[in-house]
Amino acid sequence: MVAVIRPETSQERIDHLITWLKDKGLDVHISVGAFQVVLGLIGDTSQIDVDMLRSLDIVESVAQLSDPFKACNRKFHPEDSIIETLDSAIGGGHFAVIAGPCSVETKTQITFVAEEVKKAGATHLRGGAFKPRTSPYDFQGLGAEGLDLLLEAKKVTGLPIVTEIMDIRSLALFEHVDIIQVGARNTQNYDLLKELGKTGKPILLKRGLAGTIKELLMSAEYIMASGNEQIILCERGIRTYESTYTRNTLDISAVPVLKKLTHLPVVVDPSHATGKAELVASMAYASVAAGADGIMIEVHNDPSCALCDGPQSLTPVQFAPIVEKMHKIREAIK
Ligand code: PEP
Ligand code: MN
Repeated sequence: MVAVIRPETSQERIDHLITWLKDKGLDVHISVGAFQVVLGLIGDTSQIDVDMLRSLDIVESVAQLSDPFKACNRKFHPEDSIIETLDSAIGGGHFAVIAGPCSVETKTQITFVAEEVKKAGATHLRGGAFKPRTSPYDFQGLGAEGLDLLLEAKKVTGLPIVTEIMDIRSLALFEHVDIIQVGARNTQNYDLLKELGKTGKPILLKRGLAGTIKELLMSAEYIMASGNEQIILCERGIRTYESTYTRNTLDISAVPVLKKLTHLPVVVDPSHATGKAELVASMAYASVAAGADGIMIEVHNDPSCALCDGPQSLTPVQFAPIVEKMHKIREAIK
């Protein structure tokens, strides 16, 4: 249930109402916008006499919410959420360009790529240290050493870093990581999500390999229900019958759908969505035109020798003009 408070209501009266609602056993999600305060009520709202609530002079309107996702629902929080890390922000008009290799491989590699993507206009550096590979015989990432190298690249460039967690037991290693990624294979690992909900860290939550939009939002809800509201959603392509010419199928329509349903920022990863370097630019442009709050692109110093995802990785030289064009598209659709 959502209760919209009349403009210019005193804080004291709002607090009084909140206390009354909490005494009824409800969780109250408070969203303070530029023009109005919205109270999102989570729990057994059958305790509440809707007509009575509606009749209060400080209440402008009350609406029942049938969606199963509450805290991430735009009806609970009409304004865009903004996720801030160091000097960068995502959402609410702040556009993120997250770039870097699939995997951190060596100190020279990650530092070189970090400096190059920064020069090209990246706002965040990505790089996997713990890699969820389909085959146990493939490179699994450098683990803790990879995180250290990523942190060194952060020190050199000042870019906030994004990297994937696979096991909550490694959480302590992520202390200086700015945004923790939950990969497509873990989107519905609810125990992991609940634990990440207890951290104060921004989470980049990818859509599952065959996940619906509702399932993605319910996964975000798991993190939020545990207390962490700093989530960035990531569309990274879904499994369809096509797998010959593209690795996954990029669901561009997920961008406007998510932007309507939730206040959380939405970024798109055209690298995993297509699996092909030659398709990354056009899908990045399409995503920006569809209203994405950011793009995540795999960039490698030498894609042909990459230990992971070389065929979909761009060189820094290929990456730089794409950033420029994305900004032009953003201007054009303003
Ligand atoms: C990645 O970002 O490197 C990755 C493994 O992505 P996904 O979880 O989307 O496959
Ligand atoms: Mn990858």
